[in-house]
Amino acid sequence: MNKQKSYEDVKEYVTRISIRNGWKLNSDKEQLDDLITGLQANFNRLGYYNCPCRDSQEDHQLDRDIICPCRYAEQDIKDYGYCYCTLYQQLDFDISRPLRMIPERRP
Ligand code: SF4
Repeated sequence: MNKQKSYEDVKEYVTRISIRNGWKLNSDKEQLDDLITGLQANFNRLGYYNCPCRDSQEDHQLDRDIICPCRYAEQDIKDYGYCYCTLYQQLDFDISRPLRMIPERRP
């Protein structure tokens, strides 16, 4: 059984991922909190960081493309400025721009 993750553990994880990829985190505190809490709940239930805005099949292999950061994040951030959940954003993303739902790239 994986060690349970705290909110702070997850925040540290997503911060590290954003720095490593040259992205930034969603600057809306409420949205960011919801996404981190969703990732935390997924990790503590499934043992991996299933995307907080996609349904899990509760199988690591079947979900592997949507383990955060998902396989689609890089392209979505390039094309739209943010990932499907809006957790990660382009470093120079204009925060006054409204965040619209982007198309699901997952086949
Ligand atoms: S859409 Fe964003 S939050 Fe969801 S898995 Fe991909 S990178 Fe993570």
